[in-house]
Amino acid sequence: PETKLPKVGTTIFTVMSQLAVEHGAVNLGQGFPDFEVPARLVAALERAMREGRNQYAPMSGVPPLRQAIAGKTERCYGYRPDADAEVTVTSGASEAIFDAIHAVVRSGDEVIVLDPCYDCYEPAIDLAGGIAVHVPLHPETFAPDWTKIRAAVSPRTRMIMINSPHNPSGAMWSADDMRQLDELLAGTSIYLLSDEVYEHIIFDGRRHESALLYPSLRERAFVISSFGKTYHCTGWKIGYCIAPPAMSAEFRKVHQYNTFCTFAPAQFAFAEMIEAEPAHYEQLGAFYEAKRDRFREQLLTTRLRPLPVPGGYFQLVDYSRISDLPDAEFCRWLAIEKGVASIPLSPFYGTPPEGQRLARLCFAKNESTLDAAIERLQSL
Ligand code: PMP
Ligand code: GLN
Repeated sequence: PETKLPKVGTTIFTVMSQLAVEHGAVNLGQGFPDFEVPARLVAALERAMREGRNQYAPMSGVPPLRQAIAGKTERCYGYRPDADAEVTVTSGASEAIFDAIHAVVRSGDEVIVLDPCYDCYEPAIDLAGGIAVHVPLHPETFAPDWTKIRAAVSPRTRMIMINSPHNPSGAMWSADDMRQLDELLAGTSIYLLSDEVYEHIIFDGRRHESALLYPSLRERAFVISSFGKTYHCTGWKIGYCIAPPAMSAEFRKVHQYNTFCTFAPAQFAFAEMIEAEPAHYEQLGAFYEAKRDRFREQLLTTRLRPLPVPGGYFQLVDYSRISDLPDAEFCRWLAIEKGVASIPLSPFYGTPPEGQRLARLCFAKNESTLDAAIERLQSL
Protein backbone atom coordinates (compact mmCIF):
# COMPACT_ATOMS: atom_id res chain seq x y z
CA PRO A 1 0.00 0.00 0.00
CA GLU A 2 1.02 3.59 -0.52
CA THR A 3 2.54 5.04 2.64
CA LYS A 4 2.01 8.54 3.95
CA LEU A 5 5.37 8.45 5.71
CA PRO A 6 7.83 6.87 3.28
CA LYS A 7 10.89 8.04 5.24
CA VAL A 8 9.71 6.60 8.55
CA GLY A 9 10.76 3.21 9.88
CA THR A 10 10.95 2.01 13.50
CA THR A 11 12.41 4.73 15.72
CA ILE A 12 16.04 4.42 16.68
CA PHE A 13 15.00 4.41 20.36
CA THR A 14 12.97 1.22 19.90
CA VAL A 15 15.63 -0.36 17.71
CA MET A 16 18.43 0.26 20.22
CA SER A 17 16.39 -0.72 23.29
CA GLN A 18 15.47 -4.00 21.59
CA LEU A 19 19.12 -4.65 20.73
CA ALA A 20 20.03 -3.95 24.35
CA VAL A 21 17.54 -6.55 25.58
CA GLU A 22 18.53 -9.15 22.97
CA HIS A 23 22.23 -8.83 23.68
CA GLY A 24 22.16 -8.07 27.40
CA ALA A 25 23.71 -4.66 26.78
CA VAL A 26 23.80 -1.88 29.38
CA ASN A 27 21.22 0.50 27.96
CA LEU A 28 22.55 4.05 27.69
CA GLY A 29 20.59 4.49 24.46
CA GLN A 30 16.97 5.55 24.83
CA GLY A 31 16.75 8.47 27.24
CA PHE A 32 15.14 7.45 30.51
CA PRO A 33 16.22 7.38 34.15
CA ASP A 34 16.70 3.97 35.80
CA PHE A 35 16.13 5.34 39.31
CA GLU A 36 12.91 5.84 41.25
CA VAL A 37 10.48 8.73 40.94
CA PRO A 38 10.16 10.94 44.07
CA ALA A 39 8.33 9.13 46.90
CA ARG A 40 5.91 12.01 47.42
CA LEU A 41 4.84 11.83 43.77
CA VAL A 42 4.12 8.10 43.95
CA ALA A 43 2.18 8.57 47.19
CA ALA A 44 0.17 11.41 45.63
CA LEU A 45 -0.61 9.28 42.58
CA GLU A 46 -1.78 6.38 44.73
CA ARG A 47 -3.92 8.70 46.79
CA ALA A 48 -5.46 10.30 43.69
CA MET A 49 -6.44 6.87 42.40
CA ARG A 50 -7.83 5.76 45.76
CA GLU A 51 -9.76 8.99 46.11
CA GLY A 52 -11.52 8.30 42.84
CA ARG A 53 -9.78 10.73 40.47
CA ASN A 54 -10.11 8.09 37.79
CA GLN A 55 -12.47 9.55 35.21
CA TYR A 56 -11.91 11.97 32.35
CA ALA A 57 -10.04 15.08 33.31
CA PRO A 58 -11.14 18.40 31.86
CA MET A 59 -9.94 18.67 28.26
CA SER A 60 -7.28 21.31 28.99
CA GLY A 61 -6.04 19.66 32.22
CA VAL A 62 -7.19 19.64 35.85
CA PRO A 63 -7.38 23.17 37.32
CA PRO A 64 -4.95 22.58 40.24
CA LEU A 65 -2.28 21.37 37.83
CA ARG A 66 -2.78 24.25 35.41
CA GLN A 67 -2.52 26.62 38.38
CA ALA A 68 0.61 24.87 39.63
CA ILE A 69 2.19 25.12 36.18
CA ALA A 70 1.33 28.82 36.01
CA GLY A 71 2.89 29.39 39.46
CA LYS A 72 6.03 27.42 38.67
CA THR A 73 6.41 29.26 35.37
CA GLU A 74 6.20 32.58 37.18
CA ARG A 75 8.80 31.48 39.74
CA CYS A 76 11.17 30.33 37.03
CA TYR A 77 10.68 32.89 34.26
CA GLY A 78 8.93 35.86 35.87
CA TYR A 79 5.87 35.45 33.69
CA ARG A 80 2.59 33.98 34.91
CA PRO A 81 0.55 32.46 32.10
CA ASP A 82 -3.23 32.47 32.48
CA ALA A 83 -3.96 28.98 33.79
CA ASP A 84 -7.33 28.83 32.03
CA ALA A 85 -6.50 30.35 28.67
CA GLU A 86 -2.82 29.64 28.15
CA VAL A 87 -1.91 26.30 29.75
CA THR A 88 -2.89 22.93 28.27
CA VAL A 89 -1.88 19.57 29.73
CA THR A 90 -1.01 16.89 27.17
CA SER A 91 0.03 13.25 26.93
CA GLY A 92 3.72 14.02 27.02
CA ALA A 93 5.63 16.68 25.16
CA SER A 94 5.24 14.47 22.10
CA GLU A 95 1.51 15.08 21.97
CA ALA A 96 2.02 18.81 22.52
CA ILE A 97 4.50 18.98 19.63
CA PHE A 98 2.10 17.11 17.36
CA ASP A 99 -0.85 19.31 18.37
CA ALA A 100 1.04 22.59 17.97
CA ILE A 101 2.22 21.64 14.50
CA HIS A 102 -1.23 20.50 13.42
CA ALA A 103 -2.84 23.61 14.90
CA VAL A 104 -0.97 26.00 12.61
CA VAL A 105 0.89 24.23 9.79
CA ARG A 106 -1.12 24.05 6.56
CA SER A 107 -0.45 22.22 3.35
CA GLY A 108 2.67 23.61 1.70
CA ASP A 109 3.81 25.62 4.73
CA GLU A 110 7.49 25.47 5.57
CA VAL A 111 8.76 24.68 9.05
CA ILE A 112 12.39 25.35 9.91
CA VAL A 113 13.99 22.61 12.00
CA LEU A 114 17.56 22.75 13.24
CA ASP A 115 19.51 19.54 12.70
CA PRO A 116 20.18 17.36 14.57
CA CYS A 117 16.65 17.49 15.99
CA TYR A 118 14.39 15.16 17.92
CA ASP A 119 12.92 12.58 15.64
CA CYS A 120 9.20 13.25 16.16
CA TYR A 121 9.31 16.73 14.60
CA GLU A 122 9.48 15.93 10.91
CA PRO A 123 6.82 13.17 10.73
CA ALA A 124 4.32 15.52 12.41
CA ILE A 125 5.18 18.26 9.90
CA ASP A 126 4.80 15.78 7.02
CA LEU A 127 1.42 14.56 8.28
CA ALA A 128 0.22 18.17 8.45
CA GLY A 129 1.18 18.59 4.78
CA GLY A 130 4.02 20.92 5.67
CA ILE A 131 7.60 20.89 4.47
CA ALA A 132 10.46 20.53 6.94
CA VAL A 133 13.30 22.86 6.00
CA HIS A 134 16.43 21.43 7.62
CA VAL A 135 19.11 23.86 8.76
CA PRO A 136 22.23 22.39 10.37
CA LEU A 137 23.41 23.58 13.76
CA HIS A 138 27.14 24.25 14.08
CA PRO A 139 28.83 20.84 13.61
CA GLU A 140 30.96 21.04 16.77
CA THR A 141 29.18 23.34 19.20
CA PHE A 142 25.61 22.65 18.02
CA ALA A 143 24.93 26.38 18.34
CA PRO A 144 22.48 27.98 15.90
CA ASP A 145 24.09 29.25 12.70
CA TRP A 146 22.31 32.57 12.18
CA THR A 147 23.51 33.10 8.63
CA LYS A 148 22.07 29.75 7.60
CA ILE A 149 18.85 30.23 9.56
CA ARG A 150 18.26 33.66 8.05
CA ALA A 151 18.83 32.25 4.59
CA ALA A 152 16.22 29.52 5.21
CA VAL A 153 13.38 31.94 6.00
CA SER A 154 10.99 32.37 3.09
CA PRO A 155 7.50 33.84 2.55
CA ARG A 156 6.19 30.31 3.17
CA THR A 157 7.87 29.89 6.56
CA ARG A 158 5.11 29.21 9.07
CA MET A 159 7.06 28.03 12.08
CA ILE A 160 10.55 27.58 13.48
CA MET A 161 11.24 24.83 16.01
CA ILE A 162 13.96 25.21 18.61
CA ASN A 163 15.15 22.98 21.47
CA SER A 164 17.33 24.09 24.39
CA PRO A 165 18.82 22.29 26.29
CA HIS A 166 19.27 20.27 23.15
CA ASN A 167 18.66 16.61 22.48
CA PRO A 168 21.00 15.00 21.41
CA SER A 169 23.93 17.38 22.07
CA GLY A 170 23.13 19.12 25.39
CA ALA A 171 23.90 22.51 23.79
CA MET A 172 22.05 25.51 25.21
CA TRP A 173 20.94 28.70 23.55
CA SER A 174 22.55 31.92 24.76
CA ALA A 175 20.76 35.20 25.46
CA ASP A 176 22.36 36.49 22.25
CA ASP A 177 20.81 33.60 20.31
CA MET A 178 17.41 34.54 21.70
CA ARG A 179 17.98 38.14 20.68
CA GLN A 180 18.92 37.08 17.15
CA LEU A 181 15.82 34.91 16.96
CA ASP A 182 13.67 37.77 18.20
CA GLU A 183 15.12 40.12 15.58
CA LEU A 184 14.61 37.56 12.84
CA LEU A 185 10.96 36.97 13.72
CA ALA A 186 10.04 40.60 14.45
CA GLY A 187 7.48 41.86 11.98
CA THR A 188 6.73 38.36 10.63
CA SER A 189 3.82 36.06 11.43
CA ILE A 190 6.13 33.08 11.96
CA TYR A 191 5.26 30.90 14.93
CA LEU A 192 7.86 29.60 17.34
CA LEU A 193 7.78 26.13 18.85
CA SER A 194 10.19 26.02 21.77
CA ASP A 195 10.81 22.49 23.02
CA GLU A 196 12.01 23.01 26.60
CA VAL A 197 11.63 19.52 28.03
CA TYR A 198 15.11 19.65 29.63
CA GLU A 199 14.51 23.15 31.09
CA HIS A 200 15.59 22.18 34.64
CA ILE A 201 18.58 20.03 33.69
CA ILE A 202 21.16 22.79 33.35
CA PHE A 203 24.75 22.95 34.54
CA ASP A 204 27.59 25.19 35.66
CA GLY A 205 25.37 28.08 36.74
CA ARG A 206 23.89 28.65 33.28
CA ARG A 207 20.46 30.20 32.77
CA HIS A 208 17.84 28.38 30.71
CA GLU A 209 16.80 30.75 27.94
CA SER A 210 13.09 30.03 27.94
CA ALA A 211 11.09 31.72 25.19
CA LEU A 212 8.82 32.81 28.06
CA LEU A 213 11.52 35.23 29.26
CA TYR A 214 11.08 37.33 26.11
CA PRO A 215 7.69 39.09 25.67
CA SER A 216 7.99 39.45 21.90
CA LEU A 217 8.89 35.77 21.47
CA ARG A 218 6.29 34.64 23.97
CA GLU A 219 3.46 36.16 21.94
CA ARG A 220 4.21 33.84 19.01
CA ALA A 221 5.41 30.77 20.93
CA PHE A 222 4.16 27.35 21.85
CA VAL A 223 6.40 26.56 24.83
CA ILE A 224 6.41 22.85 25.54
CA SER A 225 7.71 20.89 28.51
CA SER A 226 7.47 17.39 29.96
CA PHE A 227 7.13 16.08 33.50
CA GLY A 228 8.73 12.86 32.29
CA LYS A 229 12.14 14.55 32.29
CA THR A 230 11.71 16.66 35.41
CA TYR A 231 10.23 13.92 37.63
CA HIS A 232 12.06 10.80 36.38
CA CYS A 233 8.86 9.28 34.97
CA THR A 234 9.10 9.15 31.19
CA GLY A 235 6.52 6.35 31.16
CA TRP A 236 3.77 8.51 32.62
CA LYS A 237 3.69 10.69 29.50
CA ILE A 238 2.43 13.97 30.89
CA GLY A 239 3.55 17.26 29.38
CA TYR A 240 2.11 20.65 28.67
CA CYS A 241 2.00 23.59 26.32
CA ILE A 242 1.98 27.28 27.22
CA ALA A 243 0.82 29.62 24.44
CA PRO A 244 -1.13 32.89 24.12
CA PRO A 245 -4.93 32.52 24.33
CA ALA A 246 -5.70 32.56 20.60
CA MET A 247 -2.91 30.06 19.89
CA SER A 248 -3.95 27.88 22.83
CA ALA A 249 -7.51 27.86 21.47
CA GLU A 250 -6.28 26.51 18.12
CA PHE A 251 -3.96 24.08 19.93
CA ARG A 252 -6.91 22.74 21.94
CA LYS A 253 -8.93 22.12 18.79
CA VAL A 254 -6.35 19.52 17.87
CA HIS A 255 -5.77 18.25 21.41
CA GLN A 256 -9.47 17.66 22.07
CA TYR A 257 -9.84 15.36 19.07
CA ASN A 258 -6.44 13.76 19.41
CA THR A 259 -6.47 12.54 23.02
CA PHE A 260 -9.17 14.82 24.54
CA CYS A 261 -7.49 14.63 27.94
CA THR A 262 -4.64 13.04 29.80
CA PHE A 263 -4.26 10.48 32.60
CA ALA A 264 -6.17 12.20 35.40
CA PRO A 265 -4.62 10.74 38.60
CA ALA A 266 -1.11 11.81 37.59
CA GLN A 267 -2.31 15.35 36.97
CA PHE A 268 -3.43 15.65 40.60
CA ALA A 269 -0.15 14.11 41.73
CA PHE A 270 1.96 16.60 39.77
CA ALA A 271 -0.15 19.50 41.06
CA GLU A 272 0.69 18.45 44.62
CA MET A 273 4.34 17.73 43.88
CA ILE A 274 5.03 21.05 42.17
CA GLU A 275 3.53 23.04 45.02
CA ALA A 276 4.88 20.96 47.92
CA GLU A 277 8.41 20.30 46.71
CA PRO A 278 9.73 23.08 44.47
CA ALA A 279 13.18 21.98 45.65
CA HIS A 280 12.86 18.96 43.36
CA TYR A 281 13.03 20.95 40.14
CA GLU A 282 15.25 23.65 41.66
CA GLN A 283 17.88 21.04 42.53
CA LEU A 284 17.56 18.91 39.43
CA GLY A 285 20.46 20.67 37.73
CA ALA A 286 22.80 19.94 40.64
CA PHE A 287 21.56 16.35 40.83
CA TYR A 288 22.41 15.70 37.19
CA GLU A 289 25.56 17.82 37.23
CA ALA A 290 27.09 15.39 39.74
CA LYS A 291 26.19 12.49 37.46
CA ARG A 292 27.58 14.28 34.43
CA ASP A 293 30.88 15.09 36.16
CA ARG A 294 31.39 11.56 37.46
CA PHE A 295 30.51 10.00 34.10
CA ARG A 296 32.80 12.34 32.14
CA GLU A 297 35.68 11.60 34.47
CA GLN A 298 35.12 7.89 33.91
CA LEU A 299 34.92 8.38 30.14
CA LEU A 300 38.38 9.90 30.20
CA THR A 301 39.66 6.43 31.14
CA THR A 302 38.32 5.13 27.80
CA ARG A 303 39.32 5.96 24.23
CA LEU A 304 36.04 7.77 23.66
CA ARG A 305 36.28 11.56 23.64
CA PRO A 306 33.45 13.24 25.57
CA LEU A 307 32.08 16.53 24.17
CA PRO A 308 30.99 19.37 26.49
CA VAL A 309 27.53 18.98 28.08
CA PRO A 310 25.98 22.32 29.11
CA GLY A 311 22.55 20.78 29.86
CA GLY A 312 20.24 17.80 29.42
CA TYR A 313 21.08 14.21 30.30
CA PHE A 314 22.95 13.08 27.22
CA GLN A 315 26.69 12.84 26.70
CA LEU A 316 28.00 12.88 23.13
CA VAL A 317 31.19 10.93 22.56
CA ASP A 318 33.52 11.05 19.59
CA TYR A 319 34.59 7.49 18.72
CA SER A 320 36.94 8.32 15.84
CA ARG A 321 39.98 7.00 17.76
CA ILE A 322 38.29 3.60 17.90
CA SER A 323 36.47 3.12 14.66
CA ASP A 324 35.76 4.64 11.27
CA LEU A 325 32.37 2.96 10.98
CA PRO A 326 29.37 5.21 10.24
CA ASP A 327 27.46 5.93 13.45
CA ALA A 328 24.52 3.53 12.99
CA GLU A 329 26.90 0.63 12.33
CA PHE A 330 29.20 1.63 15.17
CA CYS A 331 26.31 1.79 17.66
CA ARG A 332 25.05 -1.64 16.52
CA TRP A 333 28.52 -3.09 16.94
CA LEU A 334 28.91 -1.45 20.34
CA ALA A 335 25.63 -2.96 21.56
CA ILE A 336 26.14 -6.43 20.11
CA GLU A 337 29.88 -6.96 20.57
CA LYS A 338 30.68 -4.71 23.53
CA GLY A 339 27.40 -4.73 25.44
CA VAL A 340 26.65 -1.01 25.61
CA ALA A 341 23.61 0.45 23.86
CA SER A 342 23.90 4.04 22.60
CA ILE A 343 22.13 6.18 20.01
CA PRO A 344 23.65 7.22 16.66
CA LEU A 345 23.08 10.82 15.61
CA SER A 346 22.26 10.27 11.94
CA PRO A 347 18.51 9.62 12.54
CA PHE A 348 18.30 13.17 13.95
CA TYR A 349 19.21 14.73 10.59
CA GLY A 350 17.43 15.37 7.29
CA THR A 351 20.77 14.65 5.61
CA PRO A 352 23.35 13.25 8.04
CA PRO A 353 26.77 14.92 7.77
CA GLU A 354 29.50 12.85 6.13
CA GLY A 355 32.17 11.50 8.41
CA GLN A 356 30.63 12.48 11.74
CA ARG A 357 31.71 9.92 14.33
CA LEU A 358 29.52 10.67 17.34
CA ALA A 359 27.28 8.57 19.57
CA ARG A 360 24.90 9.63 22.32
CA LEU A 361 25.03 8.10 25.81
CA CYS A 362 22.33 8.77 28.43
CA PHE A 363 23.70 9.38 31.94
CA ALA A 364 20.31 9.53 33.70
CA LYS A 365 21.33 6.31 35.42
CA ASN A 366 22.34 4.89 38.77
CA GLU A 367 26.07 4.87 39.43
CA SER A 368 26.10 1.06 39.21
CA THR A 369 24.64 1.20 35.68
CA LEU A 370 27.17 3.78 34.55
CA ASP A 371 30.01 1.84 36.22
CA ALA A 372 28.99 -1.32 34.36
CA ALA A 373 28.93 0.58 31.06
CA ILE A 374 32.31 2.19 31.69
CA GLU A 375 33.91 -1.17 32.44
CA ARG A 376 32.78 -2.38 29.03
CA LEU A 377 33.78 0.86 27.29
CA GLN A 378 37.30 0.57 28.76
CA SER A 379 37.83 -2.49 26.57
CA LEU A 380 37.40 -0.48 23.38
N1 PMP B 1 11.41 16.64 22.91
C1 PMP B 1 12.63 16.22 23.22
C2 PMP B 1 13.80 17.04 22.86
C3 PMP B 1 12.78 15.00 23.90
O1 PMP B 1 14.01 14.56 24.20
C4 PMP B 1 11.64 14.25 24.26
C5 PMP B 1 11.76 12.96 25.01
N2 PMP B 1 12.70 12.11 24.51
C6 PMP B 1 10.39 14.73 23.89
C7 PMP B 1 10.30 15.94 23.23
C8 PMP B 1 9.14 13.97 24.20
O2 PMP B 1 8.79 14.05 25.54
P1 PMP B 1 7.65 13.13 26.15
O3 PMP B 1 8.29 11.83 26.52
O4 PMP B 1 7.13 13.89 27.31
O5 PMP B 1 6.61 12.93 25.09
N1 GLN C 1 13.24 11.23 24.19
C1 GLN C 1 13.94 10.01 24.40
C2 GLN C 1 15.34 10.09 23.84
O1 GLN C 1 15.70 11.02 23.17
C3 GLN C 1 13.28 8.81 23.76
C4 GLN C 1 11.83 8.85 23.62
C5 GLN C 1 11.36 7.67 22.80
O2 GLN C 1 11.76 6.56 23.04
N2 GLN C 1 10.55 7.93 21.84
O3 GLN C 1 16.08 9.18 24.05
